[in-house]
Amino acid sequence: MKKQRLGQNFLIDTSIAREIVHLAGIVPGGPVVEIGPGKGVLTEFLLDSGGSLTAIEIDPKLAAGLRERFGARENFHLIEADAIKFDYGSLGSNYQVVSNLPYYAATHIMKRLIHYRERIADMTLMLQKEVVDRLAAGPGQKEYGSLSVFTQFYCSVERLLEIPASAFSPRPKIDSSLVKLTPLEKPRVEVTSQKHFFKVVNAAFFHKRKMLKNNLRGWEEAFEKENGTLHLAGIDLSRRGETLSLADFAALSNHLPETHD
Ligand code: SAM
Repeated sequence: MKKQRLGQNFLIDTSIAREIVHLAGIVPGGPVVEIGPGKGVLTEFLLDSGGSLTAIEIDPKLAAGLRERFGARENFHLIEADAIKFDYGSLGSNYQVVSNLPYYAATHIMKRLIHYRERIADMTLMLQKEVVDRLAAGPGQKEYGSLSVFTQFYCSVERLLEIPASAFSPRPKIDSSLVKLTPLEKPRVEVTSQKHFFKVVNAAFFHKRKMLKNNLRGWEEAFEKENGTLHLAGIDLSRRGETLSLADFAALSNHLPETHD
């Protein structure tokens, strides 16, 4: 992949870097994974905070620079690899993740980390502001969608800091936000099948402005008519998906037949 496509916007404001590592709440001596260390601005503070750091960087030139700068430090381990395909199960367990993620793959890597959530204590991630808006949004907010439901189903979401584009070089076109995702011990709501739950959620948001009775038409046979309006599991199907809480989505999916394609 070409360099300019690797999302290499480096943080140049060291006071923000210090603040990020402070907010990450690194447990001294505990395992930490940094994705995309770049030139090492966060890496240095992470090492100083006493974490046992594994850094994953794809760019061989940056990896060489990092080895030179931090190679002598006992708590520094570098893996030259692609974070998109990486097997996070190979890194032990109960580790903290800290990353200023490359924009082009940020959501993808974040979803992959959530997939490995049982191994991860928490993730402090810098992402595009508009992505964090979606992660943190609740019912009725315009940013609320299937990514919000997916993330909140598995994690608590805490917005920590806003970071202006001017804190980076080269300067990106958009601002960033720092968010902490902490995997929940069990999903936020109880569902009979997670696969089915997300199928219903994705269908409900498919045409954002459409009512549930249109987006869920594939399950039409299960619709119940009460006083001339359509309902399912007590939910009025003239509502839009964007007004439903995770508990509402759970009620819907637990009520709908799973065998449907
Ligand atoms: N942590 C540094 C900072 O805050 O200045 C760099 C952040 S920069 C936004 C993203 C970093 O991720 C770059 O160092 C880039 O080379 C690296 N990167 C991009 N794609 C990657 C991938 N697929 N796997 C691992 N690292 C990647």
